[in-house]
Amino acid sequence: MSIINSIHLDRIFDSRGNLTVEATIKTQNGGFGRAIAPSGASTGEYEAIELPAMDAISAAKKHALPELENKIDSIDQKQVDSTLRAADATKNFSVIGANSAVAISLANAKAAADSLNMPLYQYMSATSKLDSFPIPLGNVIGGGAHAKDSTHIQEFLSVPVGASCVFDAISANTSVHKLAGTLLSDAGYSRAKGDEGGWAAPISDEVAFNILSQSISKISKEVGFEIKMGIDVAASELYDSTKDRYSYGNLNRSKEEQIDYISNLSRDYSLAYIEDPLEENDFEGFSELTKLIGNDSLICGDDLFATNVERLKQGIELKSANSILIKPNQIGTLTETIAAIDLAKENNVMPVISHRSGETEDNTISHIAFATQAPYIKTGVVGGERTAKLNELIRIEQEIKTL
Ligand code: PGA
Ligand code: ZN
Repeated sequence: MSIINSIHLDRIFDSRGNLTVEATIKTQNGGFGRAIAPSGASTGEYEAIELPAMDAISAAKKHALPELENKIDSIDQKQVDSTLRAADATKNFSVIGANSAVAISLANAKAAADSLNMPLYQYMSATSKLDSFPIPLGNVIGGGAHAKDSTHIQEFLSVPVGASCVFDAISANTSVHKLAGTLLSDAGYSRAKGDEGGWAAPISDEVAFNILSQSISKISKEVGFEIKMGIDVAASELYDSTKDRYSYGNLNRSKEEQIDYISNLSRDYSLAYIEDPLEENDFEGFSELTKLIGNDSLICGDDLFATNVERLKQGIELKSANSILIKPNQIGTLTETIAAIDLAKENNVMPVISHRSGETEDNTISHIAFATQAPYIKTGVVGGERTAKLNELIRIEQEIKTL
């Protein structure tokens, strides 16, 4: 038995300098677990609610902690998570905050693992064989809600599909990121970094595609394996519901034009991965696009699904996507995160475990990605809060090799 002894909630800072919630859990048999809630900027309408950190902490202290401390076995993650749900009668954690919920839920899993003297990935993977690694999607150039005065498309990603281990894949992404920075400077653009460490520059989406494509082909030759391109359009941010159009500065696109545009991009740049090409309510538009280009590209729903099993079920029914972004704080508990991953896998929808634009040193998603044998993880390329996850992937890979 690893009964939860104490849960301490505190406010600390994230990579944007905003306050976020950290949970520290101790169990009666000496287990220790700590986790920190991340935070989005291009948050979807269907995500669980993030409250201001101090409000989330005081609400969770009042409503959730008395039901958990000295009452529940941390090994029983389902019970911990259903207790968090019961402490907040809303569907979206608007009482205790998804930031408190996710920090407690993840910290609990870590405390349980620690009480059994196991790393989290091993505890979570139980009996399943860990023989694959998640391919890291690297944010090379970015704009949208993560960097003003840069591209309209939020993320231009490097996808090292041919790498034979996570270390080589990460290494390829860092080289692509470096080279893209050099190419931008050489072309005379001033550059900065967006919230996730991708280059931000006053360039069009077309220039970004060109820079990324040049970088990828050169680095691909150097490392000797295939690297493809991907994008996160984050189309809900571009969508103007009053006009029913997608706005790219002076240019507007109707839904059908947007579908055409994305299909052309997929063909022209042989995109391996396209996230949120349409706004978060358009299950039908997603289906149309998946039918058109789903054999060539992964069509991933982020804001569309919001890591929510009910929304994913709808997407499976309508064949809206062949991939889902998984962000634990979009739903608020580890149990529901795993349920979304499992349902996706059962239906051949590729799960991509993801960071948020606001992050910390927390590296739980690296463990989730390996433990669930997810085919992809999206967690940036540079910046301490991104390398925290990437370096943990490398450590886990080394550990698994020597098991
Ligand atoms: P967010 O961005 O964390 O700001 O929502 C990440 C994404 O859209 O994938
Ligand atoms: Zn996204």
